[in-house]
Amino acid sequence: MKGEKKVLVVKKNIIDISLTAHKAEVQQTDYRPDPEGSIFEKSTERLTAEGDILLDEADIVISGGRGLKAPENWDMIEALAQALGAATACSKPVSDMGWRPHHEHVGQTGVKVSPNLYIAVGISGAIQHLAGVNASKVLVAINNDPEAPFFKAADYGIVGDAFDIVPRLTAKVKSL
Ligand SMILES: Cc1cc2nc3c(=O)[nH]c(=O)nc-3n(C[C@H](O)[C@H](O)[C@H](O)COP(=O)(O)OP(=O)(O)OC[C@H]3O[C@@H](n4cnc5c(N)ncnc54)[C@H](O)[C@@H]3O)c2cc1C
Repeated sequence: MKGEKKVLVVKKNIIDISLTAHKAEVQQTDYRPDPEGSIFEKSTERLTAEGDILLDEADIVISGGRGLKAPENWDMIEALAQALGAATACSKPVSDMGWRPHHEHVGQTGVKVSPNLYIAVGISGAIQHLAGVNASKVLVAINNDPEAPFFKAADYGIVGDAFDIVPRLTAKVKSL
């Protein structure tokens, strides 16, 4: 790394917490970085978007794919997102067709997300989509095709019609 400034960025959930039986030995050190050499700066910037939860900062993301059939069907995705305090996202074809804005497109060519919970609704699970979501802590797929590739990557899967499952899920969340 030759540049004058080095920037180290650690994204949420990128490192797994693993519990082992070993206890690490704590060692005290009086190391002080050379003021002429390394400079450690902590910088915190808080970004907020009005009325929206930032996709790449969200703890929960509800994402819809072509299985939702039409843009007007996003009402149920937004209702579930609102109930869970989640951000909404989509697959590439959905944004290409103009059903959703491009900044919601997740995947290899879109936003990379790493929420604690990613719920994919009517998304097949193409490798290019998974490339943008596989750092999520828990992946849930809702798809009416039991052979959909997403089920191989998902921690939990619901085989069923999104138009039946999503409103029931929203009602359940609201009742809790
Ligand atoms: C170079 C390249 C880069 C790409 N980059 C990206 C990227 O960044 N992000 C991305 O997403 N894609 C990307 N793609 C496209 C990717 O290969 C897939 O075509 C795309 O992800 C498929 O989107 P989809 O799952 O929404 O649609 P589809 O593949 O059409 O899948 C729709 C799914 O919905 C299910 N379904 C249908 N009806 C229902 C229902 N009623 N209830 C529940 N489920 C239902 C179907 O069983 C199916 O699994 C890229 C492709 C290429 C070649």
